Amino acid sequence: MKKYYKSQENTLLYIVFCILSLVLIACSILIIIEASNKQRNSQTIQNSASVEQTTQNTGKIDLPPQPTPNPIIAKPEVKPVAKPPATDYTLPNNTSGLAPVLLTIPTKLPVVFLGIDDGAVKSKKAEELLKFSGFKATLFLANRFITDNPSYFKTFQQDNQYTIQNHSLTHMLLSGVTYATQKKEICGMADYIEKTYGKRPTLFRPPGGSYDKTTQKAAYDCGMKAIIMWAAKANGGKMDYQQGNKLRPGDIVLMHFRNEFEADFNSFVQAVNNANLRVEALEDWL
Ligand SMILES: [Zn+2]
Repeated sequence: MKKYYKSQENTLLYIVFCILSLVLIACSILIIIEASNKQRNSQTIQNSASVEQTTQNTGKIDLPPQPTPNPIIAKPEVKPVAKPPATDYTLPNNTSGLAPVLLTIPTKLPVVFLGIDDGAVKSKKAEELLKFSGFKATLFLANRFITDNPSYFKTFQQDNQYTIQNHSLTHMLLSGVTYATQKKEICGMADYIEKTYGKRPTLFRPPGGSYDKTTQKAAYDCGMKAIIMWAAKANGGKMDYQQGNKLRPGDIVLMHFRNEFEADFNSFVQAVNNANLRVEALEDWL
């Protein structure tokens, strides 16, 4: 009998123990939920305090960063010069097997030509300045400078204002180099331009202006109609002339896609205005 009461007592103790354990677990869960709610509330308060502070300091609420707007370019003031009714120069028939070398186009018409080289610096500013000026230009690109972003130059092809021409693969100085290497430099870049931009080039500008008879032969064999040098350059924010101190009709001008593009371009615009010339495309004349 005594044993029976003992076993009843144990069962009761066991039930009490279970109930107490359940109550303990429930309490713990409630405490955890409460604590996390408090933390969330304090964060919200902190955030609204910082918004308030920003509002007090600047009168504005902090917004997520907005995309930077396009750079604002002062539109170049180009003096209008009427387009001549026709060109007055044609490249003579080539019987020598050597591409002719041109520093100027022999013309009496009030025109000048712009070639922009290399392609190293690809800025939105350069694109806008060219577009706003309405000038035509020939882009002499070298493979080594443009393979990081060849698409940049596709935007220049959209409105026929520019053409892409040949400035070699690696931009090596060609004078004194073997025919095989020169041919590889010139033909290789012609192939690349045709593949990338859809049209094979016909004009070649030698890197650094360095060329010899072998260059003329290699250029001719690669289908280049002429080697294009320059009579003046826009460089370091000013014009450098090989002769005299102003642009003359038919001059070919050299520029580069560089960080100083804006300063160089503005000095070119000034020189064109001062000489009452019109900027035309080499390809329309050659
Ligand atoms: Zn170059």
